[in-house]
Amino acid sequence: MTPQGDVGSRPPGLRFDVLTLFPEIFQGYLTQSLLKQALDGGLVSINLWNIRDWAAGKHHSVDDRPFGGGPGMVIMPGPVYDAVEAIQADAAEPGQLVMLTPAGQRLNQALVQELAGQRRLLLLCGRYEGFDERIRLGLKPREVSIGDFVCNGGEVPAMVVIDTVIRYVPGVLGDPESVAEESHSEEGRLEYPQYTRPRVFRGMSVPDVLLGGNHEAIARWRREQSEKRSRPDQANQDSAVTQKGGVDREEQASDAGGGGFRPQGQGRQAGDAAVPDRRLGGGPPADSGRDEGASPGL
Ligand code: SAM
Repeated sequence: MTPQGDVGSRPPGLRFDVLTLFPEIFQGYLTQSLLKQALDGGLVSINLWNIRDWAAGKHHSVDDRPFGGGPGMVIMPGPVYDAVEAIQADAAEPGQLVMLTPAGQRLNQALVQELAGQRRLLLLCGRYEGFDERIRLGLKPREVSIGDFVCNGGEVPAMVVIDTVIRYVPGVLGDPESVAEESHSEEGRLEYPQYTRPRVFRGMSVPDVLLGGNHEAIARWRREQSEKRSRPDQANQDSAVTQKGGVDREEQASDAGGGGFRPQGQGRQAGDAAVPDRRLGGGPPADSGRDEGASPGL
């Protein structure tokens, strides 16, 4: 088990393990901007695992046609169970398993914050027509959707989860106030309008209040603008949908039973598939400026 990158000398604040059939999709994302700096600084670590490494047989198949007919292919439970169990056992803490699925709880800032409270998140990315239902029933993941639409795979949704969650890891943002003040820090609340140089652009001027140096007046203007923009009604609707979705899914799970599974984080057996070496994290200190928290000297 040799890491692909240097994992760093101190334990990371948050460890992600991404289970995917297409680990290469993450390469560009992991080498840019805030996330790169968080990885380099050892604040976050990300391990990429290819589910296919746990597939049996000559062809390492991970999917098969759906029973009952229908289009496309479905991801089989065997390789996913083996991968999840082996990866959970790769550290003392099994972590929270998150399944990316359009049927999951819709991601919002409250859920992001909740996920950020974990020390280890395993992000399970689907492809094709999605997962065999027994993966959901047996492994009991936290099911998360990034919105009411269908992506081709769970990789982009996993990046959304990583991108949003790391903002709460101490040290990742240049100014910790950023998360306290920004849009959705309260349900429905949207940030005030921001301006930078030039003072006049194509006939549109920066509001005078922002140029006057009166901090009280600026704070008042921002509060008012934020209130004007905010969408309290939308927030209430969203939380109603989320709550209903959550209850329905719970009932469905208990109705369906789901015998024969090993509970999460337990029951690893001798002979379980080995853990492959696909990791990223740590490394030399960041060399470029942060893209957060810098303010122009107006
Ligand atoms: N047949 C599935 C359905 O109708 O629900 C859609 C499968 S989708 C093409 C393939 C994979 O993409 C899913 O298993 C899931 O991991 C991921 N995915 C697609 N849309 C998503 C969303 N809105 N949120 C989270 N994951 C999503």
